[in-house]
This record gives sequence, structure tokens and C-alpha cells, in this order.
Amino acid sequence: MLVDEEIENKEIAKQYKELLRISYLQLSREDKKLIRLAFNTAVDAHKDQRRKSGEAYIFHPIAVAKIVASEIGLDATSIAAALLHDTVEDTEYTLNDIERLFGNTVAKIVHGLTKISHLKKDTDISLQAENFRKMLLTLNDDIRVIIIKIADRLHNMQTMDAMPEYKQVKIASETLYIYAPIAHRIGMYNIKTKLEDLSLKYTEPDRFNAIKNKIEESQEEQKQYINSFSTLVKESLDKENLGYFIQGRSKSIFSIHKKMQKQNISYEQVFDKFAIRIVYQSDFKDEKFLAWKIYSIITDYFTPNPTRLRDWISSSKSNGYESLHITVMGPNNKWVEVQIRSQRMHEIAEKGYAAHYRYKQGNEGDTGIDAWLNRLQEVLESKDSNAIDFVENFKLNLYAEEIFVFTPHGDLKSLPQGSSALDFAYAIHTEIGSKTRGARVNAKLVPLSRTLKSGDSVEIITSENAKPTANWLDYVITSRARNKIKASLNEEKKKIAEEGKEILRRKLKHMRINMNERSIRQLILYFKVNSSLDLFYRTGLGTIDNRKLKEFATTFNNTFLNFFKKRLAGRPKPKITESKEFVSKYDKLVFGKEKQELPYKLSPCCNPIAGDKVFGFVTINDGIKVHQHNCSNAVALQSNFAYRIVPAWWVDSSEQEFTAELVLTGIDQKGLVNQVTRVISNNMNVDIKKINFYTDEELFKGVITMRVNNKGTLKKLKQQLLKIVGIEKVGRH
Ligand code: MN
Repeated sequence: MLVDEEIENKEIAKQYKELLRISYLQLSREDKKLIRLAFNTAVDAHKDQRRKSGEAYIFHPIAVAKIVASEIGLDATSIAAALLHDTVEDTEYTLNDIERLFGNTVAKIVHGLTKISHLKKDTDISLQAENFRKMLLTLNDDIRVIIIKIADRLHNMQTMDAMPEYKQVKIASETLYIYAPIAHRIGMYNIKTKLEDLSLKYTEPDRFNAIKNKIEESQEEQKQYINSFSTLVKESLDKENLGYFIQGRSKSIFSIHKKMQKQNISYEQVFDKFAIRIVYQSDFKDEKFLAWKIYSIITDYFTPNPTRLRDWISSSKSNGYESLHITVMGPNNKWVEVQIRSQRMHEIAEKGYAAHYRYKQGNEGDTGIDAWLNRLQEVLESKDSNAIDFVENFKLNLYAEEIFVFTPHGDLKSLPQGSSALDFAYAIHTEIGSKTRGARVNAKLVPLSRTLKSGDSVEIITSENAKPTANWLDYVITSRARNKIKASLNEEKKKIAEEGKEILRRKLKHMRINMNERSIRQLILYFKVNSSLDLFYRTGLGTIDNRKLKEFATTFNNTFLNFFKKRLAGRPKPKITESKEFVSKYDKLVFGKEKQELPYKLSPCCNPIAGDKVFGFVTINDGIKVHQHNCSNAVALQSNFAYRIVPAWWVDSSEQEFTAELVLTGIDQKGLVNQVTRVISNNMNVDIKKINFYTDEELFKGVITMRVNNKGTLKKLKQQLLKIVGIEKVGRH
């Protein structure tokens, strides 16, 4: 590609100036000097490199630095580190060079960023995601490493078009899984939203575009709505001498998508596609008072829905979010969420704690950027911060309780806290696990049951003669190891059972009993074992008592004779239900909450058959793959790609009726309940089991449980219900 270097250099200079101009924090002269040096170094380091798109490489670090400076609002050290983030990884520059030029802090951050890149290249894809996420949480690196890494990812996501599709999807999935939750956790809502929307653009382009277009179409309508809202409250707000502005805030594409998916509703049915935001100026001490004052003004005009009041001013969310949210019956009798917050809260919500720091600086003296970075670190590491928030939104605490250990080659392995050397052995390879004879931790011989600590270096000693014993189950906590041990114990058991079967056959023959389905079934009942396998196994082990077996033979032969006599007397033949019949009833696989039929493939790794406990895994190129619940791949899939798991059940296709629960919401009107019940009872194919109606002032909620013959009927019913005046939403529970 031909590039006019002069034009390019001008553009680089322009971008650099803009970087300084848009910085959120005030930059001192020293700061600017540092950034200038970083810029010059980066330009020199990357001078011969170009990105896949063809542009000079340096545009990337500048763009990352701009995100760090303006959107996240970090300090000069971070801006410099962002400019340098790829130098050690991709160029001639070494960490020593960086340390010599920029000192310890910048060098440490760049080192952290380089380490993450290395990790990415060394390990295979699925494990890498797992390891990487945990790295972020456990390594005691400067938190700025993570934040700059997120900025790096954001810019990469923004410039992914030149990449092959499979890479786009892979990077997008990883972003959704790792980076967006971390951005959320740190309170960087803007960045999180951008990451999510960009991810959806590549993972589900059709869905993304459809929602995006609809949002754009409704833009004008939204504006008008906000206008009519503002016009009404403006006079009263102005009377209070408040500095404020009112703006609309659209729900992000990704969150609309998620809501549609979760509640199985159309775009039109998504309830709070946009909110109204009132941002007011205030001293720190008047903030709360003013928020409630505005609340009181708004609710003078519009009726609030008391169940949807969220006060995150009196006590903020665990990630620092503060705001007062109410939902009111706005213009045109539409419910709308109103978010009331001060300028300070607003900036913190947009930028995270960087803004917090800036506000702090003003009134409490300089606590230093490190103070808030430390707090962030604490938030990331804390296990007891608002647990529900934590689990629901980020699911990270599950991973925080992990340890890292090293293989003799220095490879990093992550294991759940409490894992033993034996867990480690199975995590390396099943073959190694099942041949384990001993373990060395930090070069010392230890028992297999020894619990490992982060940083331990573990070596497994194997032997050809070693094999799993039942005790081993007490030593391990990972499901992978458990399953593998159980599997080999089962193998062993099967061998013994085969011998046992022959022994039993001989013994029964002596007692003039044929070994067949019927006699075995009776034996299972008699000896109170679970299966024929257990029966044979016990025989093989020699724990089936011979005397008891003789007792059995006597009764069995008697009942057999009785049975024969009865039959001869012409009594109806008792029906014997074979277990085969029971299994074959489950002939159809359905997926998801809605129990939908979807195309699928049975996974060859565990070959599920009808009746097995199974789940579906949405693969990128090969549709839904069905695995057994206890498939050893399952655990890995569930932890790495939980969002791609769809529940699945075997059902009896002849059983068509199913129970459905409809939830109706809306505004209570006279006669509404009557109309609802009339619509349902007019429907021949619906059998109402339970009905509950609740009203809360003017709000109405109905929950109806019914038996329906198929989904078509249910859909029709939903449509009819939606026609009733006052009903706003009809959804499945
Ligand atoms: Mn980069």
C-alpha cells in the first residue's frame, strides 16, 4: 500500500495534540513531559510497523492512550504506559529500556501488559480465557494494568473489521466473557456498554443491526417524549434555582438484546428502552437533599410506581454507583424511568472511580491516584462486597477463590481453592492422574491429599502399576478428577462384575433357576441393590451370602409355581413393564425454558442416548451440540462458556400438553379481570389451573397457570390478551 508519509505524520501529530487536550485530569508540565517522552519512544519503536488495516501502528497506542486519558480519566503515568503498552511485546525495546527512560512504575505496568500478551499466545484458547481472567484477579499487579488492557481491548474491538470472521467472533466472545464484566466491576459503565455492543455486533450481527435500526427509528419519538416531559417539570425545577439538565438515556443494544432473550419478548415489548436523566449541580453536602427534592417535584406531576424505587444515594452499589431511580407514569400514560443524580454522581457513573478521585482532590486534599487504585484493588479482591450484585452481574467471585500453581516446566495452572496434588495431576492429564503414585510440592515429597497453595510448584510422580482407588475420591475436589476416578473405578467394577455374572449363573443353575431378566429383577429386589451391575459386582467380590441366595431360590421357585398355576387357571396375564419401554418413551429433545425443538447434534465425546441427563452447547460453527451432564468436557464448557449453555430435556413426544404460566401486567381498569378470564375461558384448548390477580394502586399483575396443548395456542392466547385495554405486557414465567 502506498502511504503519503507526510500526511500520515501530520495526522499522528494531530492525534497526539488531541490526546493532551482531551485528558480528563489536569495535566501538569511534568505530566506533559512524561507523555511527550512516551509518545516519542512509541513512535520510534513502532516506526516500521503497520496494522492489518494498513495504517501506521502508532495510531493504535495513541488511540488506547486517548481512551485511558479521556474516557477512563487516568493519570499521566497511565497515559504514558498506554502509549508504550505494545513496545516490549512487539518491538526491539526491552523492559530495561522502558525502566531506564520512564522509571519503575511505568515499567511495571508495561511489564504487566506484556505478561498478559504472552499468556495469550502460549496457552490454548479455552484455557487461556480461564487463566487470563484469573490472572487479572489474583496477581498483585498494579490495577492500571487491567484498566489499560481494557482500553486496549476496546480499541481492538473498534478496529476489528480487517480481521477474519472466526477471529472476530472469538475476540468478541472473550470480550463479553472477561472484559465487559471487569469494566462493570470497576464501575466503567460507558466502556462496558461499548464493549458489549461491539461484541454483539460480531457474535450476532443480524440481531445487532435489527435492534440498532429500531433504536435509530425511534430516536425522534424519544426526543419528543423527553421534551414533553421536560416542559411539564421545567417551571417547578427552575423555581428552585437549580442548575440542572435533562437528557434521555437509551438502553444499550446489548441490554435490549439480553432483555428480549431473557423474557422472550419482542423489541416493542421491552419496557424501559430509555430513561430520563436529571443531572443537577450541587455541593457534596446538599446532594441527597436535592435528589429527594427533585423526586418530590417529579412525583407532583407524575405518579410513581412504588415498587420500582431504587435509592442508591443513601447506600451506593458495591461498585460505587450512586443515583436515585424512580419509575413514573409519564406523558401519554407511559411508564418511564427517571434517574436523578448530581453532576459528581453522573461523572462517577460514566467514568468510574477516576472521577471520584477528581472530586475528592478538591475538598479533601490530595489522597493520590494510588488511593483510589488501592480501593479498586480491594473491590476486585473482596469476597464480601454485596454478594448478590457480585454473583448476578459479574460472577467473578466464583473465580476469585482460585489458586495458581506451576508445572515443573513453569506453566501456570489454575485450580479451585482447596485442590490437592491429585486434582492437579488430573488437571494436567487423565493418564497422569490415573497413574499417580506420589507428588512433590516445591521439591518435597507430599501425600496425594496435600492441599495446594498459590505459587506452589507441583511435580507428579507416576507409575505404570498405580491405579485409582476409592480413597482417592476423598482427596479430590475438582469435578474433573472425581469423574475420572469414578470412571476408572467403574471400569474396574465392570471387570469384577463380569466375573461375578458367571459365578452367579453357575450358582443359580445349581438351584434350578435360569438366569434371565425376570430372575435378575427379583434378585435385585431381594438383595436391595441398585442394578444388575451391582448384583454381579457383589457376587464377584463375594459379598453375596450363599445362605441368603438359597433362601431366595426357595421363595422364587414357589412364586414361580404359583404364577404358573394362576396362569393355567386362565387369569389375565400380569403386564410386565420392561425398563426398555420406559426409556424409549423419551424420544424427543427440547431446549431452553420454552422447551423448543431445535436442530442439534449428539456430541461424540460422550454419546448421549435418549433419557440421559443432557445439556446443549451452542458452538460457533456447528449449531447445538448435546452433551451428557457428567461429560468431562461439560465442566470445562460450563465454566468457560456458561453463556452458551442451553438446558435440554428428553421428552415424550406423544405427551403434547404442557403447563404454562402467563404473567400479565398493566394498568388496572374496571372490569379488567373479567375480560381476562373471559378471553381465557373462551379458548377451548386451555385449561386454567390457577389464577392470581394483584393490584397495587393503579398497577395490575395477573399470574395464570394453565394446561395448553401446544405453543401455537399459547401464542394466540397471548395476542388476544394483549388486545384488552390496560394490559401492557403478557409474558411467560
Ligand atoms: Mn495493543
